[in-house]
Amino acid sequence: MTEELKKYLEENELYVGKYQGDDFIIIESWEQEEELEKLGCKIDIGFSGEYSTCASCCNIIHTLDGTEFQIVNGEMLCAECIKLDSEEYILSLINNEDKTNMILSTEELGELGFELMQGGYEHGFYGITDKPREILDEFIENNNDMEFIFHCDSLNPFAIYFSLYGRETKSE
Ligand SMILES: [Zn+2]
Repeated sequence: MTEELKKYLEENELYVGKYQGDDFIIIESWEQEEELEKLGCKIDIGFSGEYSTCASCCNIIHTLDGTEFQIVNGEMLCAECIKLDSEEYILSLINNEDKTNMILSTEELGELGFELMQGGYEHGFYGITDKPREILDEFIENNNDMEFIFHCDSLNPFAIYFSLYGRETKSE
């Protein structure tokens, strides 16, 4: 990296982070992109509207891809950090109709004690609109010693396909 480039990054408070193992700079504007190009910057760049930084490990997250991050307790965490310490993440999903697991695999859910309760749910524009709240209410009523999370099986711009996983509530 040239001194000139280094100086430009410092002055504009731009940082070289890591995105999927490679150097990456999150920029704020087209001007910055042009300027970096002029300075001969070969590092990959992305706009701050689409990229952010993991609050724990500082690696860069593509925020348009729901499989790369999740907000846990108000902090944006990357998938790797969530996998390292998944209990807080799981707690944020339990009995929560607004959140769907897109980070942990079904095998990883199994390791955390979750089993498939019911699959094949769909919500979208194809006429099927299974309602997470109603699903949860029904399962909670019939299994009051269990806790549940939704798992995303697949997703397209028009519909989400999901399953309900449950485990016994850990007694304190
Ligand atoms: Zn992280």
